[in-house]
Amino acid sequence: MKIPFNKPYLTGKETQYIEEAVKSGKISGNGLFTQKCQAFFEQKYGFKKVLLTTSCTDALEMCAILANIQPGDEVIIPSFTFVSTAVAFVRQGAKIVFADSYEDNPNIDASKIEALITPRTKAIVPVHYAGVACDMDKIMQLASQYNLIVIEDAAQAMDSFYKGKPLGSIGHLAAFSFHETKNIIAGEGGMLTINDDRFSKRAEIIWEKGTNRAEFFRGEVNKYGWVDTGSSFLPSEITAAFLWAQIENLEKIQKKRLEHWHYYNSHLKDWAINNNIKTMTTPNDATNNAHMFYLVCESMNQRTAIIAHLKSHDILAVFHYISLHSSPYYIEKHDGRALINSDNFTAKLLRLPMYYELDIKEVVNKIVKYAE
Ligand SMILES: *Cc1c(COP(=O)(O)O)cnc(C)c1O
Repeated sequence: MKIPFNKPYLTGKETQYIEEAVKSGKISGNGLFTQKCQAFFEQKYGFKKVLLTTSCTDALEMCAILANIQPGDEVIIPSFTFVSTAVAFVRQGAKIVFADSYEDNPNIDASKIEALITPRTKAIVPVHYAGVACDMDKIMQLASQYNLIVIEDAAQAMDSFYKGKPLGSIGHLAAFSFHETKNIIAGEGGMLTINDDRFSKRAEIIWEKGTNRAEFFRGEVNKYGWVDTGSSFLPSEITAAFLWAQIENLEKIQKKRLEHWHYYNSHLKDWAINNNIKTMTTPNDATNNAHMFYLVCESMNQRTAIIAHLKSHDILAVFHYISLHSSPYYIEKHDGRALINSDNFTAKLLRLPMYYELDIKEVVNKIVKYAE
């Protein structure tokens, strides 16, 4: 494919920093690069505490452990999301209660959450789809009213804001991804942000295989041992060194991606109207971090036709997600409620190529040749 859907952007410093990490003689986790990355995010976005993880999925698994999810506990998540949002909680035995999206925005419809809360509900996991904020005021208000934990799936939400607050800093916990398809990357990688102090100490222990090793390294205890459950959630210094090169270029990367996003938005407007297609919108209290540019087609057939049209011009556009409530793994466990907006996005949402080095003019020139 001449124009792929995604192409990982390399800043040029990645291998240099990896070499530095290798030569330093310390390549396991929680070394200098890990600490530099964590400190950067804490300072830039005001997250109380950050732990790098091997993926966003791992960060979400840590959240499920920290939220003390027990078999039978209920967790409310949108159906229109990636598998990891649900599976991290399912592994702890949670029953997933799927919520629908808004009609005009794939995010969880906050006005429909309260009706899903029962005495077994433990957590709400809003997903900031396309880096566009969910209605966090409403969600945090429900959480305090019903004593629930809010875990932001901020996998796509790097450098995006809600009423001026960075996404990932509002919920009690949040999870980000540095998978190669995200805005800044580490191949596979992620991070947990902890905004509620009651989770800080335990998070570090779970991160380090259930040991208090991190405390030991800071000299706060004179020996370390097994004190809790956990896993090996921390990435090696090689991953953190790669990520540091990306972090140094965060502003440059965001600027370029936003240019692409605005080019799509302005140049596809008339074409979209003429073809009965909706372009992505952002609510007034949310920012757009140019994680993606998507269209909502008139029908699934039209989407299939646009994908084929672009493919004939050597351009790859893709769709996702298949609503999780109708996935083979969960369909029997779902309570049967219809989630029509989620299904509507499953049928009609189309993502256009988005990456730093994208030839945006070429893509737009070819898209607008599609006509019904
Ligand atoms: C990418 C993504 C994930 C998973 O991230 P990994 O780092 O690959 O584990 C989870 N949730 C959402 C919404 C995502 O987009």
